Amino acid sequence: MKEKKFASLPPCLLASLPLSLFAYLCNMKPSTKYIHAGAHPDPSTGAIMTPIYQTSTYVQESPGVHKGFEYARSQNPTRQALEEALAVIEDGKYGLAFSSGVAATDAVIRLLQPGNEVIAGSDMYGGTYRLFSKIYQKFGIIFHYVDMTDIKNIEAKLNANTKLIWVETPTNPLMNIADIKAIARITNKYSILLCVDNTFASPALQNPLQLGADIVMHSATKYLSGHSDVIQGALIINDKQLRDELYFIQKSCGAVPGPMDCFLVLRGIKTLGIRMERHSQNGAKIAHYLKCHADVKKVYWPGFEDHPGHEIAKKQMRDFGGMISFELKKDSMEAARTLLSSTKLFSLAESLGGVESLINHPASMTHASIPREERIKNGLNDTLIRLSVGIEDADDLIEDLDQAISLAVKA
Ligand SMILES: *Cc1c(COP(=O)(O)O)cnc(C)c1O
Repeated sequence: MKEKKFASLPPCLLASLPLSLFAYLCNMKPSTKYIHAGAHPDPSTGAIMTPIYQTSTYVQESPGVHKGFEYARSQNPTRQALEEALAVIEDGKYGLAFSSGVAATDAVIRLLQPGNEVIAGSDMYGGTYRLFSKIYQKFGIIFHYVDMTDIKNIEAKLNANTKLIWVETPTNPLMNIADIKAIARITNKYSILLCVDNTFASPALQNPLQLGADIVMHSATKYLSGHSDVIQGALIINDKQLRDELYFIQKSCGAVPGPMDCFLVLRGIKTLGIRMERHSQNGAKIAHYLKCHADVKKVYWPGFEDHPGHEIAKKQMRDFGGMISFELKKDSMEAARTLLSSTKLFSLAESLGGVESLINHPASMTHASIPREERIKNGLNDTLIRLSVGIEDADDLIEDLDQAISLAVKA
């Protein structure tokens, strides 16, 4: 019955119609949300999957009389379906999709003005650091980079010009944990915006808006899409005014994703729940395997009881995910290089969050844009290796690492 009612409505109402369904879904358990979020039968055909509206513009009946869609930079039905899905799965009210994760980050920084100050983590995605330090610093925005595992470091940089705190947790690649709730207490008290890059955890493991964040940012390229076949970014917001400001930036600056990419992420989201379950199971097995390995010096994974952020991670995350970093006892570039080029199932590549396992060398790949001195100071060593554990069979993955580590220690 409900479907019939939806089907009889013109597409212009598609964006506003699902309010009742939206509210209904918001009360469902996560695994139900992943399947149904943003999905409405297509009004013209009943197609169960959101069509790829591959169009740049929409025909108007007479000037200004249209179905709610004018030009595809401003509105696209496939993107709207995805944006609704993003809101549902992140427990927010509004979603906005961007052409990449850094475009989403860029939109948040465009809320600021020269003279405004930002406090960000000293250990975070290299591209975020590059955007802040190489692009926006020259526009007069001031960035402070601190170790966010201790709230006192954040408090030390607070002043009347502080407008945004940018948190990444777990961090890329050192898997440090920041206490989102504790930081939100500060940002709420002083009316500072809190944006959390939730890429590593995904909405399945962590929901920062529930913990007091104002904006959640995702590189949808990673776990949301889940299949290493798209570049995309997302913001999720609760406050209507903040959403409108970010929407204005999205349409004015134009970093919007195409409908095909939106379709792919919508499709990826359907399996997010079960993928994250397996990523986390495999991650736990591999982290323990590495920790027990005689040739491994240190493993960075928040699931270990002796990880400094373990208690906070347990409180704010549902599981610990599939991202792991580690160092060999043999601290040589030759050994690291041999390991990185000897795995058979783990492909040597940047990026993460796909169903297939990847191995990466942050110092020369994902984090090469951070000056070496800065990197080492923050604990990111030249020989650190990062794994994005996929959803293959964990024993096969362990066997692959095992043979590569034996070759590495002989190198
Ligand atoms: C990949 C990544 C980004 C950037 O996203 P793109 O989609 O590559 O633009 C931002 N933050 C984190 C944690 C990432 O891993």
